[in-house]
Amino acid sequence: MPRDPRALRVRRSDVSWKKSQRASSARRNAGECAVSHRHHRDETRIAALDAERRRLGLAMTVQRRAVLEVLASTDAHPTIDDVHAEVRRRFPEVSRSMVYRILESFAEAGLVRKVFHPGRALRYDSRTDRHHHFTCTACERGIDISDPRLDRLPVPETLARSGEFTVQDYSVQFFGLCPDCAAARSEAAGEKRPGR
Ligand SMILES: [Zn+2]
Ligand SMILES: [Zn+2]
Repeated sequence: MPRDPRALRVRRSDVSWKKSQRASSARRNAGECAVSHRHHRDETRIAALDAERRRLGLAMTVQRRAVLEVLASTDAHPTIDDVHAEVRRRFPEVSRSMVYRILESFAEAGLVRKVFHPGRALRYDSRTDRHHHFTCTACERGIDISDPRLDRLPVPETLARSGEFTVQDYSVQFFGLCPDCAAARSEAAGEKRPGR
């Protein structure tokens, strides 16, 4: 690669990225369950997503690169605001609407998948293969679920009967409490009990 000043800029900001990683692990230790949970700079995932981006013929800019890196560095299925907050640590001038436009262009091209949870903010997933989700109703954390049995669900009768619908894909969503939130709840319940 030529000595592109933008490349230097990205590299230099890697330092602050690491710093932000330390900050987020400090937050995690403080018990603050943030969506930055499990943010780690995974070069292999970034490279894989970037190769896919190139294959899909999506142009690259510094801002798009930053968004791509955020998506590849978390499995928390971030919202637009989550992605924007991470990108802004490195590029304070990047607006939310720019992040939105980038995410939408990624989704339209099939680089990421949009995850809809009823009554919840739209999230983006850098995994585009068929998989399913568990969402914690307390901290909103989402995790990926792979189970061959869920991949073999029949087309619902109402859709199949009419013959006018084509099901291209589907995803099953489970809701409940993650281990952290379940533990926090039972702890809170345990604290109250002696008072009763
Ligand atoms: Zn939770
Ligand atoms: Zn997912």
